[in-house]
Amino acid sequence: MTISADVARRATNRGTPGRVGDVRRQNLALIMHRLDAAGQMTRAQLAAETGLTKASVSSLVADLMSAGLLSEVGLNRVGERGRPGLGVALNTEAAALGMEINVDYIAVGVLDFAGELHFHAVREQHNAGRPPEEVLSSLQSLADEALEQAGGSGMKIHAGGLAVPGLVDPANGRVLRAPNIGWRDVNVALWAEALVSGASFGTAIFNEANTSALAELWYGHGRDLDNYLYVSGEVGIGGGVIIDSELFEGPGGNAGEIGHVVVDPDGPDCSCGGVGCLERYAGQEAILAQAGVDGGNTVERMGALRVSLESQDAAALAAVERAGHHLGVATASTLRMLNLDAVVLGGHFAQLERWIVPAFRGSVNRHAPALLAEDRILVSKLGPTAAVMGAAGSRIRSVLQKPYELFS
Ligand SMILES: [Zn+2]
Repeated sequence: MTISADVARRATNRGTPGRVGDVRRQNLALIMHRLDAAGQMTRAQLAAETGLTKASVSSLVADLMSAGLLSEVGLNRVGERGRPGLGVALNTEAAALGMEINVDYIAVGVLDFAGELHFHAVREQHNAGRPPEEVLSSLQSLADEALEQAGGSGMKIHAGGLAVPGLVDPANGRVLRAPNIGWRDVNVALWAEALVSGASFGTAIFNEANTSALAELWYGHGRDLDNYLYVSGEVGIGGGVIIDSELFEGPGGNAGEIGHVVVDPDGPDCSCGGVGCLERYAGQEAILAQAGVDGGNTVERMGALRVSLESQDAAALAAVERAGHHLGVATASTLRMLNLDAVVLGGHFAQLERWIVPAFRGSVNRHAPALLAEDRILVSKLGPTAAVMGAAGSRIRSVLQKPYELFS
């Protein structure tokens, strides 16, 4: 931005009180993005880095503080004399609500603009085959609890994001197909207001694996990694492809569906209508059935599987090794196809790291020799919070992009 841009801003705004001109909009977003990247800066630093005048930065910062998006912080820089400079940073009392619906649980969490998760709660409940209204109603009650706690702590929720394990149409707020919970063409947009009432940016819907891949990019390994395949292990298996630090969604928004990559053309039928998909070998249900663990919901059975693995149960070890082998087959093909050389494992693949990664590594090395270095097989840093953090984080980025929508 230049001084002439600043002049253009004043010209744009003159005579249109209450409206924010295009250049000022760009500059507001620029300030938000700089602070998101840097953490905290003085107004002088912001001016130097953006090329805007100090007066302009002060004016933009004042507007963003009024909207509750920025706060002043003391900057105590090493090696400088005198009192610490007064800096500004994204306001940690500004936040988004992340929500997740999965096969055997629902989850919520409040993510502040600095990336810290608060009031994370998981409720185990069986969602497969239940009417969507019932599931959304129980999600609403869990969301209300988180919102109440956030409000009590002085936090303001600006947006909501919901992650579901299926194909979604974000523009129309619909879940198109989520076979593992039995949803087909469910209009979640009808629930958007109820789930996060009063949020200026409303509620948006996302694919669970994609948001988890993005959460890893923003808050986990992605800080050191620009290109990778994220594989999310739940009852189903999802995937997210990160290329040049961006999610590659494909024309229909559903790229990365590694769970339905065929690993055995003569294999069993799959919920997607195909046969022999990875999910039928490495999804939670497949592993549990193979290991002979039954009784209770999936969460409880996964706990029982871990106990069996700890005690070197042969069936449990064989089931996980088989899953790791097939996961390696699908991953090797996918990495080759996309020219990627790193993978981040999430969900139950992360929980079962000790047992599954050796078989996975052996399989990838066999099917794509020398493609994946030892240190490029990573396990998610975010564990079970990934989808919630990604859904909330996506919405925070919407606010960073258009902060002026909060101006009254
Ligand atoms: Zn399938």
